[in-house]
Amino acid sequence: MARFIVEVFAAACFRAMELITILNRCHHFRGFVYQRVRFSADKKSIEVAVRPRQGSAALCSRCHQPAPGYDQLGERRFEFIPLWGFLVFLLYTMRRVDCRRCGAVVVEEVPWGDGKGQLTRAYMLFLARWARRLSWKETAAAFRTSWDKVFDAVEHVVTWGLEHRTLGPIDAIGVDEIQYAKGHKYLTLVYQIDIGITRLLWVGRERTIESFQGFFTTIGEELTSKIVFICSDMWEPYLKVVREKCSDALHILDRFHIVAKMNKALDEVRAEESRRMRIEGRAPILKKSRWLLLKREENLAEEQRFRLRDLLRYNLKTVRAYLLKEVFQQLWDYNSPTWAGKFLDDWCRQTMRSRIEPMKKIARSLRQHRELILNYFRAQKLISSGAVEGLNNKAKVTMRKSYGFRTFRVLELALYHSLGKLPEPESTHDFF
Ligand SMILES: [Zn+2]
Repeated sequence: MARFIVEVFAAACFRAMELITILNRCHHFRGFVYQRVRFSADKKSIEVAVRPRQGSAALCSRCHQPAPGYDQLGERRFEFIPLWGFLVFLLYTMRRVDCRRCGAVVVEEVPWGDGKGQLTRAYMLFLARWARRLSWKETAAAFRTSWDKVFDAVEHVVTWGLEHRTLGPIDAIGVDEIQYAKGHKYLTLVYQIDIGITRLLWVGRERTIESFQGFFTTIGEELTSKIVFICSDMWEPYLKVVREKCSDALHILDRFHIVAKMNKALDEVRAEESRRMRIEGRAPILKKSRWLLLKREENLAEEQRFRLRDLLRYNLKTVRAYLLKEVFQQLWDYNSPTWAGKFLDDWCRQTMRSRIEPMKKIARSLRQHRELILNYFRAQKLISSGAVEGLNNKAKVTMRKSYGFRTFRVLELALYHSLGKLPEPESTHDFF
């Protein structure tokens, strides 16, 4: 019996020593030593006691310099990366220093933790990396932790990333908005769309003049003055800010937004005409025609193409609006701004005579923004809003993943985290 107990004891010591060896290999800090490892009373977590190395002075958490000791506070628990289904905690008795430099008694700085947070930096980076692949809720479930801790982890990593990122040089930006909170609220997103680097630069509340101005305040005048291209939709507050802040940049109107607006107008015409035909008791020719008219013809199945050809034989407002929309697509094939301009003017003239109010509205808007549309050709079609569109779609996917609480702060962090290409805090080891 006694021999059995000795053996179990020896094995336990051996395992404890092994864990300390591993920790020293992957999570070692000068001035501190791992003292011992044990199970918690309920056997669900592993507790690792940490103590200062003999003779090493504590660092002041304000000025980051060594300072003479003052007293000790209670023991704190820092959550580390879980191991084989056990939660792992580092236990450490924080010291306070009497810092002459700061003229105050200050709590010491520990290299594995952050301020008052409960998580070690290593665990925060670990959780944040997973939170980029999974939703925050899934991340919390996968590592048996809480949504709030995942939030803290992402916030820590994003804050670090924003403080340490290099902003410039920036040649081209795109601005766009997305809706959230069931479509009741807007965010303004600014992307860098340089050839070779596309990333989210800025997230602002609402889509007002102030939202977009916030971006220029963040990057400062020097970088602003060097922006060559700006891509946006026809949202007036954005246009106004561009005129104010970047009058030298070539401002390009977003092609996708123009096409989207045109589709919306066509859909309005169809819905209205279809309703009128039903009231007048005419044959329901327009029934189920919505996607036939909105999709590009080359994307239709053969059967749908036949139905479309059939529909186009009728003399309907919807058909005339459809043809105007289809003809408009030719604009993007031009290379010369002059010829593109002539085409645009012809199209607008023709459309203004069409007596189709939603299409006339588009024509008026295109006339008003003529120069900005032609800037697409002046930029030799190199800067396309395709990059903005792609990033904005990713932003919507990021948003759709369930984040639990769809507040501005959560979305802001999630968006920076997945699209900002931010640098990450350094780590003692790659914990995956
Ligand atoms: Zn100090």
